[in-house]
Amino acid sequence: MDKQNIVIANWKMNLSPADSLKLAEAIIAKLGEIKPLKAQIVLCPDFLSLSGVAQKITGQPIMLGAQDCFWEPVGAFTGEVSAQFLHELGCAYVILGHSERRQYVAETNEQINLKVKAALANSLIPIICVGETFAERQEGDKDSVISQQVSNALTGIRLLDQDKVIIAYEPVWVIGSGQAVAPEEAEHAHRVIRQVLIDHFSMNAVNGQIKIIYGGSVKPNNVGNFLIQPAIDGILVGGASLEAESFAELVKQANL
Ligand code: PEP
Repeated sequence: MDKQNIVIANWKMNLSPADSLKLAEAIIAKLGEIKPLKAQIVLCPDFLSLSGVAQKITGQPIMLGAQDCFWEPVGAFTGEVSAQFLHELGCAYVILGHSERRQYVAETNEQINLKVKAALANSLIPIICVGETFAERQEGDKDSVISQQVSNALTGIRLLDQDKVIIAYEPVWVIGSGQAVAPEEAEHAHRVIRQVLIDHFSMNAVNGQIKIIYGGSVKPNNVGNFLIQPAIDGILVGGASLEAESFAELVKQANL
């Protein structure tokens, strides 16, 4: 049986709420041409655009995701957004630990772990981003860095039957660079991650409740090479998700 790929769009802080709505509309129109649509699709706009995009995609085979959440459910946490509120708004997914958050707001593995717990407690599927920097890769530390990030993000977590988790392997140095890693290198990293997951959870849970996806300069001209790798269950896309045409092309190739 073919695997069901997941295609996740991370719009980052690239679009205003009005532009997010326009792009959601254009994507809905383009994806309508793909019949049958078998891939799972998730759009992750910025916080301000979530409710508008939620309304647009109602009744469509498209899910909504946020780009971050806070770990406390409610309270005096100025500027933060709770996983509970995201769920209430219609989000099913939340990106956590993206390298841009690790870099620009110094998000730590410990904070990411708390956020993963909050996401699961509020029926959200965490998309946990891990990946090495160029320096770590040059030092030969890639496998240990990503293993540690996965392990730290999942510390103290026991998956309940209904829980689902996505790990996104995103080599930091290729994000937004236009140059992806070799698909075989991504496949190797996915196997390393899979082993860490098997050390944490049962084999059944890893096979049935967790997907491992690749992100980092995925484009229509390279996506096929990633999706044929056996351990790659889908893609997380930044730049190529900002135009309906290129996003739909990625979905077509993931629609196995
Ligand atoms: C990302 O930031 O998650 C990402 C994959 O970006 P890009 O596709 O632009 O490299």
